[in-house]
Amino acid sequence: HISKLPQVGTTIFSVMSALANKHDAINLSQGFPNFKSDQKLIDLVNQAMNSGYNQYAPMPGNLQLRQAIAKKYERLYETSYHPETEITVTAGATQAIFTIISTFIKQDDEVIIFKPAYDCYEPAVDLYGGIVKSIQLSAPNYQVDWDLVKKTITKKTKLIIINTPHNPSGTILKDTDMYKLQELTENTDIIVLSDEVYEHIIFDGLRHESACRYPDLKTRSFVVASFGKTFHNTGWKMGYCCAPKELMDEFKKVHQFNVFAVNHPMQKGLADYLEEPSHYLDLPNFFQEKRDYFLRLIKDSRFQINPSQGTYFQVLDFSEITDEHDVDFAKQLTIENKIASIPMSVFNEAGKDDKVLRFCFAKTHETLEQAASILNNI
Ligand code: PMP
Ligand code: GLN
Repeated sequence: HISKLPQVGTTIFSVMSALANKHDAINLSQGFPNFKSDQKLIDLVNQAMNSGYNQYAPMPGNLQLRQAIAKKYERLYETSYHPETEITVTAGATQAIFTIISTFIKQDDEVIIFKPAYDCYEPAVDLYGGIVKSIQLSAPNYQVDWDLVKKTITKKTKLIIINTPHNPSGTILKDTDMYKLQELTENTDIIVLSDEVYEHIIFDGLRHESACRYPDLKTRSFVVASFGKTFHNTGWKMGYCCAPKELMDEFKKVHQFNVFAVNHPMQKGLADYLEEPSHYLDLPNFFQEKRDYFLRLIKDSRFQINPSQGTYFQVLDFSEITDEHDVDFAKQLTIENKIASIPMSVFNEAGKDDKVLRFCFAKTHETLEQAASILNNI
């Protein structure tokens, strides 16, 4: 067979956005803001182009940007990454994740993934001959059973992928989770990929538990981040990852032949923009206001709500409305009710359907009001 991924179809994000467009539905499916990012940032990127940042950036990224990222980690997580050796700028978090997996995963290496899982992890592991060991979490709290993780770890475990705040559930890992992970991986060669693209979108005063806050965990971890999520520019596809030098040296061996370097004027614009810390420190409040507004609007609907703790997604339980499979229900809502969401089961182990849908609330008040008036009538 010619296909290396015969089991893989088209990502649910393309499927649901296309269905939303076809039926002119409000699109709360694929996660992206429908408001403009800060004009200051756009001006800074334009300035960078006008002042000549139009040729290749250094392979790991524009140095001013890497320095600004390092400063952010010092400020927020009281840890340091060396800008010259421990940070690489990537084409979105997606490229960082794919490159980490392709750098380290060999035939028959085991990779532990928690389900529901963001959909780009597993196919990359499959491509390199790795074996996915899934651990299914359950609604509404999606808590990790660390005893089960312990039993799942074997001599072949090469990588554990975590994601906090968690897409699609909107839950977060707590310090107790991180201590468990640190303890279970201590004195092993296991690498941890910590997908933290929603680090700045966390609510109710909760603390983001970056893997880099935990000194032993940090020695084995890649922390992955996305400027698209942080600064409302998902279309720019800009992100980065941080890791100790020995791991990052290996990463760069692949990165240099994959993209070599990413968009230079955007890196320069982002570097200038990061100089002002309020640009990321204000984000939790900015998104909490949207979450709270959306939840107030739908509080009398027939959906059961467990408020999102982080990410710009809200999971809604529809078990009191219908027994339908979530994929069928999501399609029906898009076509008939004109509101698109993401059915959670696509991120689960086969057969697991908790009757929940994921809605993106990174939208203007007007869009959230239109969405709520539909949801309140279902
Ligand atoms: N990880 C998670 C959990 C995501 O939700 C996303 C999507 N934004 C990504 C990675 C990919 O981020 P990017 O758009 O920067 O490639
Ligand atoms: N991360 C976004 C989401 O979860 C979508 C990214 C994509 O379309 N690949 O909706």
